[in-house]
Amino acid sequence: SRQIRLKNRIIGMPKESDFEIVEATLPEPSAGEVLVENLYTSVDPYMRGGMRSAELGKPLEGRCAGRIVESKSDQFQVGDYVTGMQGWRDHYIAPAKSVTAVDLTIAPLQSFLGAVGMPGRTAYFGFLEIGQPKAGETVFVSAAAGAVGSIVCQIAKIKGCRVVASVGSDQKVAWLLEKAGVDAAFNYKNVDDLEAELRKHCPDGLDIYFENVGGRHLQAALAVMNMHGRIPLCGMISQYNDVEPTPGPTNLSSAIGKRIRLQGFIVTDFMERNPEFYSDMQQWITEGEIQWEETIIEGLENAPKAFIALFTGEKLGKIIVKVA
Ligand code: NDP
Repeated sequence: SRQIRLKNRIIGMPKESDFEIVEATLPEPSAGEVLVENLYTSVDPYMRGGMRSAELGKPLEGRCAGRIVESKSDQFQVGDYVTGMQGWRDHYIAPAKSVTAVDLTIAPLQSFLGAVGMPGRTAYFGFLEIGQPKAGETVFVSAAAGAVGSIVCQIAKIKGCRVVASVGSDQKVAWLLEKAGVDAAFNYKNVDDLEAELRKHCPDGLDIYFENVGGRHLQAALAVMNMHGRIPLCGMISQYNDVEPTPGPTNLSSAIGKRIRLQGFIVTDFMERNPEFYSDMQQWITEGEIQWEETIIEGLENAPKAFIALFTGEKLGKIIVKVA
């Protein structure tokens, strides 16, 4: 089996030379286990945090999607498609109970790593449960053309909200306006005064800020928030490669008088409610209300390059590595 490992501890922005690809021999699966051939492996921003403590000399971990090639369990047959947690490699052995069968009538296999997988569930539960949207409210989404953000934008439209989106390229702005149907989108890299830009697009103020980025995006959103606004704290990707901690927003105290609720969450908090997500998503997909983009990068050896692209922002939609 080929697997990707960390060669050394990453300092700052990850580089391809921080990773190595290694050949390893897998044992035979034991009773109750399956051998899976990974067809796709995911790269996700949270992995940057895990890499601070990941053991060097062991394969990296992450979500993946593949096919059973040998089964010592009566739960799965050879040829079944599953998702698992042993990404960054081309084959793995796992207890049958640790992999999940996928329903390919909902979406193609690789999308179970994106729109109908963990990022989609993050968007769904984070926005609906923590954001508590009401029709007519204004929602601001950062990293809005990404795996999570693009789904948040569209669920917000389905719920009757006005949606304002921030992204790092003009191509992403065009996709959001033309395909995702947001009401306004801007390229933050061309904006000096983010607060003024946000005020321009939010004539009635801001009720929900779906936080993916941190830093000056959070500062600007806090300034424009309405009374009783909600800020689901999903991620702060602008800080994941920091070598020194970044100072917090200078206007956090405004959240007190405005009774703003800032609440962090992790997608797995809602695990037992996954059936609600699949049922709503299946309906929205059938009705054509949810679209998504994927950037597929070919070859396991290019997984580090795919991971780095999360931080440069050069790719649209969910980034997935095609292993085989
Ligand atoms: P994306 O597909 O959105 O990819 C990351 C994007 O972040 C890039 O494309 C880039 O878009 C943007 N970005 C990168 N660096 C910066 C920066 N310095 N400033 C502003 N934007 C930046 O990733 P995901 O959708 O998978 O994840 C989005 C967020 O959600 C992350 O913060 C992630 O950690 C979080 N998350 C949280 C989960 C939870 O359970 N709480 C679960 C899953 C994800 P652009 O071109 O627009 O700059």
